Amino acid sequence: MTHEHSSVAVVGAGIIGLATAFRLARRGNAVTLFDAAPATGATRAAAGMIAPTAEIAPGEESNYRFQRGAMDAWRAMASEIAEVTGHEVGIVQTGTLIVGWDASDRRLIEQFRTVAAEFGAPMRSVTRTDEPRLFEGLTTRITEGLVMDDDGWLDPDEAVAQLMAANEALGVRLVREQVRQASADESGVRVVTESGETRADYGIVTTGAGGLPNGLTVPKSPTVRPVRGVTVRVQSLDRSALPTVRAYVRGRAFYMVSRPGGYCVLGATAEEKSQPLVEVGELQRLLRDGLDIVPELEAAPLLEVRNGLRPATPDLRPFFVALEEPRWSWSSGHYRHGVTLAPLAALDALAAIPS
Ligand SMILES: Cc1cc2nc3c(=O)[nH]c(=O)nc-3n(C[C@H](O)[C@H](O)[C@H](O)COP(=O)(O)OP(=O)(O)OC[C@H]3O[C@@H](n4cnc5c(N)ncnc54)[C@H](O)[C@@H]3O)c2cc1C
Repeated sequence: MTHEHSSVAVVGAGIIGLATAFRLARRGNAVTLFDAAPATGATRAAAGMIAPTAEIAPGEESNYRFQRGAMDAWRAMASEIAEVTGHEVGIVQTGTLIVGWDASDRRLIEQFRTVAAEFGAPMRSVTRTDEPRLFEGLTTRITEGLVMDDDGWLDPDEAVAQLMAANEALGVRLVREQVRQASADESGVRVVTESGETRADYGIVTTGAGGLPNGLTVPKSPTVRPVRGVTVRVQSLDRSALPTVRAYVRGRAFYMVSRPGGYCVLGATAEEKSQPLVEVGELQRLLRDGLDIVPELEAAPLLEVRNGLRPATPDLRPFFVALEEPRWSWSSGHYRHGVTLAPLAALDALAAIPS
């Protein structure tokens, strides 16, 4: 290799691959990024919540420990992106309001509160009587909730566009092709696509729920399974200056992320299914839950329905591991938190790959 820094092949241009490529390229690595359809996987479906506190879901409590630095990590990466593109990705810290539909859902929130308190997550109880504005747009049967002020959101479409622009400006070579085969020897890695072969010093797989390309193997667990999720975009009330609404409805989770102008993302289904499609039943459940919590959605123009496959591990934790083949690593398992964790995943790559 003739360049000063090592060269890296990054396979998969979702939010994890884009952020990984960005941080490597900014450090000086020569990066080639492979994806036939960049950012059309789970990243495209994501609502963009950066909500470490509200994500203390049963079975995932310990994730809070590494997710709570995510907001700062995003702010730092947004500034770095702005130094390259001149545009800073908007990161909004509105907090989360979590509410329950019926008595059983409210008990779920009480359980959530107990677990979140054990982790020292900041939150406060609120009532409609004391703070009516927080409950704007919500059905009047909801009179109380919990607010987590540390949470926020970004627009994943904007983050993707800025990362793509920054990567281009930093000289990342984007190969819009599927990786068919990958391998390695002691001198470097080899990536095969339809149009030919690329060599690099190191390789990182960031294919989300897509798994490993042919030729690569993981020494032991983790395994990644797809968990399908659907989000719906509607034009509705502008709660962008208020906390994101999250609700338990008949035991299911519903959220509404409201952006300025009333562009709202409703989410999300969670189906143990691997087909990237939308079933009528899952969409109906999501919309019914939404209508129960926010009645004025009834008249909201429907803009778009998106679906994606979340990459989930058995313990629902992400990983960055070395593969059996030398010089290859795998960064995945970000499940419901990949947008949140992208800057941290990129730091893992910086630490693992020599400059
Ligand atoms: C409905 C829904 C809502 C969500 N909401 C949030 C949220 O609010 N906040 C949050 O933090 N997270 C959220 N997530 C989770 C988040 O979207 C994912 O964790 C994240 O997008 C995973 O990113 P990724 O880059 O690993 O995978 P992906 O975004 O799926 O990207 C993988 C890329 O790899 C490419 N690829 C696959 N195989 C190959 C190959 N052989 N060669 C080349 N390229 C390949 C694909 O084309 C794809 O572009 C949500 C997910 C869903 C589905």
